[in-house]
Amino acid sequence: MQQIRKSTCHCGSVKLEIRFDKGLENIRRCDCSLCRRKGYVMAAVPTSHLKIIQGRDQLSCYQWNTKIAKHYFCKNCGIHTHHQRRSNPNQYGINIACIDSVNPYKYKEVPIGNGELNDSLPTL
Ligand SMILES: [Zn+2]
Repeated sequence: MQQIRKSTCHCGSVKLEIRFDKGLENIRRCDCSLCRRKGYVMAAVPTSHLKIIQGRDQLSCYQWNTKIAKHYFCKNCGIHTHHQRRSNPNQYGINIACIDSVNPYKYKEVPIGNGELNDSLPTL
């Protein structure tokens, strides 16, 4: 079922409207050096399904390494709302914790993929 959901950063400067055709799809965590620091759970949507309805000027973009992915965050509160994916630049990864009425802790078994973390790193 198609739904339009609102997403906001923490301070409310940035407001997005996102269209989901079949609920939250392709939920996962990425283990790249950036996402593993953020602990971010994402869903994927085509870039045409996301509209910035407020706060475009509050969004900052962080790029690193290949500079393909674009990681957007609010300059005021620092919350990362979405990113344009490196593996598929026609999609945005959406921070599901920013979507109205979504409990990100409900997703217990989130697949991890796509990054480059070395599994042999020791734990503390
Ligand atoms: Zn903010």
